[in-house]
Amino acid sequence: MKKILEICLFVYSLLFCAACVPEAPMLHQYADTAMGTVMQFALYTEKEQTADTFTQNAMELLRTLEQEQLSRRIETSEIYKVNASAGNPEGIEISTELAETLNRCMDMWKQSDGAFDIALGAVVQLWQIDSMASGETPAGDVEIPSPEEIEDALKNCGSDKIKLQNATTITIPAGVRLDLGAVGKGVALDKIHALLESCDDISGGVISAGGSVLVYGSKPDNSNWKVGIVNPFNTAETIGTLTLDASDWYITTSGDYERYVEADGVRYHHIIDPATGYPAQNGVRGVTILTKDGLLGDMLSTACFVLGAEEGLELAEKYNAEILFVLSDGEILMSKGMKQYFRSK
Ligand code: AMP
Ligand code: MG
Repeated sequence: MKKILEICLFVYSLLFCAACVPEAPMLHQYADTAMGTVMQFALYTEKEQTADTFTQNAMELLRTLEQEQLSRRIETSEIYKVNASAGNPEGIEISTELAETLNRCMDMWKQSDGAFDIALGAVVQLWQIDSMASGETPAGDVEIPSPEEIEDALKNCGSDKIKLQNATTITIPAGVRLDLGAVGKGVALDKIHALLESCDDISGGVISAGGSVLVYGSKPDNSNWKVGIVNPFNTAETIGTLTLDASDWYITTSGDYERYVEADGVRYHHIIDPATGYPAQNGVRGVTILTKDGLLGDMLSTACFVLGAEEGLELAEKYNAEILFVLSDGEILMSKGMKQYFRSK
């Protein structure tokens, strides 16, 4: 009897210890599409179920963000309704969350001397780069807008045309179209970051939304995160790597290779210079921003791409953001602070 009791105790203690010793967080990876881009999740957590649930919640959050707030194509979204209200002198009510995003975008318009403009929708729509790049418009049908069309559309651009009264009543003149294509991924990553922070069981991870990446928390062995920067001359390769410590970072890239069409040997890409109405041509192929704020990183990557190396460096510095340019001649130019993180290949 004593022997049986001893065996029982031994088995019990084994079971008990197994339950007590925490498992090391394991890496769980997922990929899906949302907001017109590929979303990738790499999450460190002890339980697969936690990672599964987190990814499902994050994807739901992204779909809601697109359908209810940011899309200029989906009829249920706030931006769609704002655009549909253009010319209505009474304007319409928007959520405080969207109003806050718009305020920050309008501020960036001022700080970038108009290079970053969310009221550029009339021109963006004219170019149809998104639908051409996605294949919605067949390659043979690519039509480059005429200088007259561009000139006319530019009259309906400029973030100074957006009026936000009583915090959440927005008015835009007839013909003006808002387009948040430059910041959607940044807003999305900010939201996913907040979701990660509310999930104690996830100790670290990397979330990537197209050209934007969030590194969160730490790895089980506390080694640094490494994030590659795409080589604009050969997008299957990287030009080098950022090595980042265990705090949370956003790495946001804008490049002329992300969405473009070619007609008569000219590459027309998706980042428009509001001064001309044409894709920005200033000797830059790619811009990478390193910040602690997703929306800021996404605004800056687009703004600095348009501004070019010299003014872009100045703008990034104003916001304490680190910046790296890949120029058209292959040269890599970066802020002083970026040098401690970047190693070329
Ligand atoms: P990103 O890839 O983050 O640089 O964003 C590019 C997208 O932002 C484009 O597909 C357009 O929808 C929009 N966009 C293009 N040019 C500008 C600009 N100068 N300012 C703000 N948004 C822009
Ligand atoms: Mg951007």
